[in-house]
Amino acid sequence: MPVNRRFLLVRRPVGPPVAEDFDIAEEDIPVPAAGSFVVRNHYASLDPAQRGWMDDAPSYMPPIALGDPVRATTIGVVHASANPDFAAGDWVLGLNAIEDYSLVQPGGFTMKIDVSQVPSPTKFLSAMGAVGLTAYFGLLVDAKPQPGETLLVSGAAGAVGSAVGQIGKIKGCRVIGIAGGAEKCRRLIADYGFDVAIDYRGKSVDALAAEIRAAAPDGANIIFENVGGDVFDAELMNLALHARIVLCGLISEYNSAERVGARNLWQILVKCATLKGFLVAEHVARFGEAGVEMARWISEGRLRIDEDVQEGLENAYPAFMRLFSGENKGKLILKIA
Ligand code: NDP
Repeated sequence: MPVNRRFLLVRRPVGPPVAEDFDIAEEDIPVPAAGSFVVRNHYASLDPAQRGWMDDAPSYMPPIALGDPVRATTIGVVHASANPDFAAGDWVLGLNAIEDYSLVQPGGFTMKIDVSQVPSPTKFLSAMGAVGLTAYFGLLVDAKPQPGETLLVSGAAGAVGSAVGQIGKIKGCRVIGIAGGAEKCRRLIADYGFDVAIDYRGKSVDALAAEIRAAAPDGANIIFENVGGDVFDAELMNLALHARIVLCGLISEYNSAERVGARNLWQILVKCATLKGFLVAEHVARFGEAGVEMARWISEGRLRIDEDVQEGLENAYPAFMRLFSGENKGKLILKIA
């Protein structure tokens, strides 16, 4: 008899998550009541945001309750339905959890997807998903890049960062990426068309700031921030006048037991810069428009979003930790079915 394996959060991580913070339970496959339906999940998105949801701290979503499966955007196929809008066999994307089968209650966030339009359903978690949309709206709406401007991107070889840099190039910017290690820096230039790649690993804030200054003597007009911590401090020492900073993520701080915070914020004052927090969910009403343009850039060979697909629900923990070791090479996805 098939069962529903569920990747549970059983303890709140302190610092980097450890395997004991999670468990895998086996339960019966849920049966839908009127208005609900059950999805057989095929893929789950593994995102840095999930680390934040594991903490009992105020956020844009409630924390994952202890004993609940780890919340995730998933794509899958409707397995059984008591909802007239969703039929067995429909492909759907929704906010569910890392589990084989998710019970979707009326009003839950789920949409049908047409997988015949893409080479792999995973595209709905990468290029056509939150990653692509984050890069698109974060850069184009919040930073409004102009031709000839200097765009500085941290976490540049990752899913969001690599897309931001490529969209910056499409818009005529000079793009500098910061990433971890020589191989990622090589890919920034060779695969994603960045103008300059800087390896942050093993460098002090001052040394990294000096390297950014050498690449951008007049400072950065736009910073697209994915990392925070020391990397952000080094970037802050290289602002152009009236620079725009899009604060998209702070992954270097998600596992810190203590909050470190940016120490060079005074540079925002002296450069009359703007710091804007970004949440992709704020742009839901315009997702369709972005999807069309992203699809066009991809078909024209101007935008490439790589995927790192790991296999097996039983590997959810080591797969998730690739985000923090930097092992992921593209959008991190867990194949469940
Ligand atoms: P990535 O594909 O970029 O993977 C995470 C990368 O972060 C790693 O590969 C690693 O790259 C880097 N990293 C991990 N730990 C550290 C560290 N301590 N210091 C420096 N770099 C580190 O993930 P995503 O593209 O999914 O997410 C990137 C950022 O965007 C995250 O901060 C995430 O929270 C944010 N985000 C925000 C959204 C929003 O709406 N605000 C939506 C989606 C994502 P390396 O090897 O280069 O160190």
